[in-house]
Amino acid sequence: MQILNPATNEVLQEIAEDSRAQITEKYEKVKAGQKSWAARPLSERIDIISKYAELVKDNLEDLAKTLTLEMGKPIRQSRNEINGAGGRIRFFLANAEKYLSEEEMFSDGGMREVIRYEPLGVIGNISAWNYPYNVGYNVFIPALLAGNSVLYKPSEFATLTGLKIRELLWKAGVPENVFECVIGTGQAGQTLLDLPLDGYFFTGSYKTGKYIAENVANKLVPVQLELGGKDPVYVCDDIPDVKSAAQGIADGAFYNNGQSCCAVERIYVHEKIYDAFVQHFTDEVKTFVCGDPLSEETYNGPLTRSAQLDFLDMQVKDALDKGAKLLLGGKRLEKAGNWYENTVLIDANHEMSLMKEESFGPIIGLMKVSGDAEAINLMNDTEYGLTAAVYTADANRADAISTQLHVGTVYWNCCDRVSPNVPWTGRGNSGLGSTLSYQGIRAFTQPKAYQMRS
Ligand code: NAD
Repeated sequence: MQILNPATNEVLQEIAEDSRAQITEKYEKVKAGQKSWAARPLSERIDIISKYAELVKDNLEDLAKTLTLEMGKPIRQSRNEINGAGGRIRFFLANAEKYLSEEEMFSDGGMREVIRYEPLGVIGNISAWNYPYNVGYNVFIPALLAGNSVLYKPSEFATLTGLKIRELLWKAGVPENVFECVIGTGQAGQTLLDLPLDGYFFTGSYKTGKYIAENVANKLVPVQLELGGKDPVYVCDDIPDVKSAAQGIADGAFYNNGQSCCAVERIYVHEKIYDAFVQHFTDEVKTFVCGDPLSEETYNGPLTRSAQLDFLDMQVKDALDKGAKLLLGGKRLEKAGNWYENTVLIDANHEMSLMKEESFGPIIGLMKVSGDAEAINLMNDTEYGLTAAVYTADANRADAISTQLHVGTVYWNCCDRVSPNVPWTGRGNSGLGSTLSYQGIRAFTQPKAYQMRS
């Protein structure tokens, strides 16, 4: 398997993809290690994961550079991701004891009723490349804390990062027969589906997620899916500062080159402030520096996957054919690597792929709306349901709109953010189940009821 630098298309490294036999061997290994891992006191597992978090801090520059080289993420954003993901680990460490310990639900006379949270066993974590630390930590950190073994399949576009994570987990004290990486493309992922794992935790596209859920359904084990989105923002006419809203929303659309599951993918603006918003928005996008992802100045690097360039070309052409107006960008950059101009299209509508299908790139459509009812209808006119944001000065108006949105997360006067304190969950084609929050700790356990008469 060739690991390419998406900024240049040069080969960074060649790595052998795991064969079916090797993956099966890894499975047998982590299955053998799981019971003794689960038998250790939770405090020991907490200490080991704390040590891992320290090692990540000590190796920040090396890890950030690896991520930037194989994925194209600008170096400052690579550091941000790794540091931010540390906050997720701190959340899990602070809450593991509370949500994994036995709970006494009833006690009367000689009768006691107790819940214990037992690990699932060996879980598979099939992961995406766009935030390998964030989306990986959502799964393997609480899974390990809860006493599971993990077969972690990093995306083929984040393999080197996956191997670094394994190295540091092992160094921190996670036994080699408790955490393993499965190296390869979808074919390696397919082998995991064929093995008798005790749970499947997937982050990636709707298409692959649906395939996985269908293929493991007959095992009757937990399946969680964190999938794509087409996340909308609605900007009301009462916002006090159009410019600062436009700046924040532009960042939500173009950060990480738009390759975030909760990136702003479509914008609806009240007709009273549409022109002013469009002006501030394009002014802001023009300030984004596009260039070498290893440079400290860079805000936009290359796209990670070359295939996405054709998809963005299609969305631009389709939008222009159907009446959109191009204000910025609209084409590839003529150089080696996967480069696309930051692209802003206005006067978009829902006939266009741009407003319906996940773009996952530096491209955005804006549409004028007459009021809240129209905005709500348009925001819900999608098969996805990950996040949606409302910008308004009025808390009651925000609440009235938010309660009508069919999504897992609503934002008021903010967007494109994830917090470990609350569940990360999608509706419709955006997913199944929750990670993060206490639900995302208990997700890696099976409750056992003890009814005991003494
Ligand atoms: P993808 O579906 O192409 O691949 C995801 C993983 O699945 C990879 O590791 C891949 O090798 C593996 N895979 C592919 N085919 C498989 C098969 N047949 N069996 C088993 N495994 C297989 O997705 P991607 O390009 O890595 O990620 C981008 C997508 O992920 C976007 O849609 C994005 O929105 C979504 N995403 C969602 C979240 C979230 O939290 N909801 C977070 C990050 C990314």
